[in-house]
Amino acid sequence: MVAQIGHFIDGKKVAGTSGRTGEVTNPATGEITAHVALASVAEIDTAVRIAKAAQTGWAATPPLRRQRVMFRLKELIEKRIDDIARALTLEHGKTFEDAKGEIGRGLEVVEFACGIAHHMRGDFTEQVASDMDSWSVRQPLGVVAGITPFNFPIMIPCWMGAMAVATGNAFILKPSEKDPSAPAILTELFAEAGMPAGIFQMVNGDKVAVDSLLAHPDVAAISFVGSTPIGRYVYHTGTAHDKRVQALCGAKNHMVIMPDADLDQTVDALMGAGYGAAGERCMAISVAVAVGDVGDRLIAKLAPRVASLKVGPGLDPTSEMGPLVTRQHRDKVMGYVDQGVKDGAKLVVDGRGLKLQGYENGNFMGGCLFDNVTTDMSIYKDEIFGPVLSVVRAKSFDQAIAMVNDHAYGNGTAIFTRDGDSARTFAANCKIGMVGINVPIPVPVAYHSFGGWKSSVFGDHGIYGMEGVRFYTKLKTITARWPTGIRGGAEFNFSGRN
Ligand code: NAD
Repeated sequence: MVAQIGHFIDGKKVAGTSGRTGEVTNPATGEITAHVALASVAEIDTAVRIAKAAQTGWAATPPLRRQRVMFRLKELIEKRIDDIARALTLEHGKTFEDAKGEIGRGLEVVEFACGIAHHMRGDFTEQVASDMDSWSVRQPLGVVAGITPFNFPIMIPCWMGAMAVATGNAFILKPSEKDPSAPAILTELFAEAGMPAGIFQMVNGDKVAVDSLLAHPDVAAISFVGSTPIGRYVYHTGTAHDKRVQALCGAKNHMVIMPDADLDQTVDALMGAGYGAAGERCMAISVAVAVGDVGDRLIAKLAPRVASLKVGPGLDPTSEMGPLVTRQHRDKVMGYVDQGVKDGAKLVVDGRGLKLQGYENGNFMGGCLFDNVTTDMSIYKDEIFGPVLSVVRAKSFDQAIAMVNDHAYGNGTAIFTRDGDSARTFAANCKIGMVGINVPIPVPVAYHSFGGWKSSVFGDHGIYGMEGVRFYTKLKTITARWPTGIRGGAEFNFSGRN
């Protein structure tokens, strides 16, 4: 049966009224499993109006009470983790265990939000001048919206939503139209945890919904995670409408492999970071830079592992890698592989021909491994977002750092080495937001913050942790004196020295 997925507005599920819907498919079978409502401008306006009316009371709710809702949310997510992971796998395609891992990383941010009373406390200075005190507080922005990508349909709504509501805002989630079921469960759990109606709403949609959030005068801020072209558009359009915008975007993450690296550990790390979630992660490693003479040894160990990757439906516990999210996306990834071959890269493992009996209509492909990739090829320059790893040879450490720094993207990177000096030099000099030393996917924990550099980000705040608190609040500084009436008289000069 094909399900109908609507919105969650004013504390309840509602059907879409625009008359427009999108198709949701199971990537393992190609079947259409749901129709998701695509919101109209009027539906977005309704959600914003409700959010605005609810936000004042929520902002006035003591942070301690707001964080108690987060504690309940944490318990509910933990209780429902298997249901959420299953819904996620059925629409995204990633393996069930990986889906649970994603939910775990989202939960970390909910846990951080459980301490929001502490994180939002202000600063106080006694005696900034004679008998005068000053203090700073952070207050919520009002109504804020989150536009999220298909590849982490739970983790990223948690990154934004938990931080936004814990800091006292009303939040409107516009998830990816490709896999809306898991975020729909999450939204219901926010309500079940005790969130007042209108504080956490979900409106499904496409460009119409996004554009209307970007232009709405009562939306104060937009958090976006997705591809670079759309992120650039969202950033420029949102800021042109005087909004605060953070847009976290695409990536091409390099792993630099030094000749002294432990190759067994490196190959294990590359398998997970390159092919986990079929490469559909913004922190996936898609380029391995082999320094000096390590290239041949690396390929010799890596190629058989890629060739024997167990590809299958995400709900099959033996699968190491699931299908790609849509047929269109799989074809685009295959197109990049074709182009890499045409451009002269050596395709050491070719996953294009993979067929799975019983899943002929699924969006499967096997892992692909290229060697001798050069920096002018499209497989090196573009984000492919699939199970395709490119090995590039670098003569020296300096050349490897230059490649990392010259690339347009700057989300994550990693170095594998046994040498502390190389690692330290790399971490200090790479122009990248998140750096791993013998750690392939250095996604920061919730009490640090996540964010890239260069074309991987627009705007200047990381997305959770204290950066998230700062993004979702504005600073107010109060300076006070309580004169007794004995000391008086007008002061005409700006007081320079206290
Ligand atoms: P996408 O840019 O296609 O979509 C992201 C969101 O934008 C979705 O909600 C979508 O509905 C909306 N959107 C799509 N086209 C639009 C348009 N023309 N106008 C307005 N809104 C539009 O991204 P995706 O394919 O869902 O996700 C994959 C991308 O996200 C990759 O580039 C990946 O690197 C990136 N990503 C980045 C991070 C990060 O933190 N840097 C994390 C996860 C994913």
